Amino acid sequence: MTKLSTWGDSYSSVPPWDIGHPQQAFVELVESGELRPSRILDIGSGPGENTIFLAKNGFSAVGIDFTPEAVRIARNRAIQRGIEVEFVVGDVLNLHRYFMEDGFYNIIDSGLFHSIHPQSLNELVRQIRRALKPRGVYYMLCFSDKEPPGGGPRRVSREEIKEILQPAFTIDYIRETIFESRIHEGGAKAYLTRATNSEVS
Ligand code: SAH
Repeated sequence: MTKLSTWGDSYSSVPPWDIGHPQQAFVELVESGELRPSRILDIGSGPGENTIFLAKNGFSAVGIDFTPEAVRIARNRAIQRGIEVEFVVGDVLNLHRYFMEDGFYNIIDSGLFHSIHPQSLNELVRQIRRALKPRGVYYMLCFSDKEPPGGGPRRVSREEIKEILQPAFTIDYIRETIFESRIHEGGAKAYLTRATNSEVS
């Protein structure tokens, strides 16, 4: 797993994912009406742009990130913009320590899944599932294997997404989209996955 200290270092300057506005993929979900105001958790919320965007659009939004500097940046942005939103410093692999079971209708993930060590992904899924309501929905944006090798996070394949999320989740879709970044011209090739907490235990 990438070390906490490494993440801290990445926030000593403006990291590539801090684009100063929400990811287009999430803006479209809200503007199309697919993602409607609800109690929602943003895991690995970083500088908080997606969380703040959701709060601004009527969601009861909470962000969680284990990098204190990221949470400090996010809280400052929310205050500066006059948006009420909660940010928690904590490890998403221990979500149960911070949030009650069944607490959220939706969870969004912008660039967290592709940052988690593959060995920890099953635990991530367990934690997400526990925090979600039955039939709650997980929206996950990650770099895809269509993005050429090079800098940036791990590229994730459709097969891997399915292997990790099923059968705990029903995969509604895995769509090609882009992950906006300060260093990938026109954005990096990405997948947006929508997965519904299934009845299977
Ligand atoms: N979602 C944000 C940040 C993406 S970068 C955005 O789209 O801008 C990934 C973020 O996940 C970093 O801020 C990092 O600190 C956080 N992160 C990585 N592993 C984590 C873990 N185990 N628990 C909580 N946060 C984590």
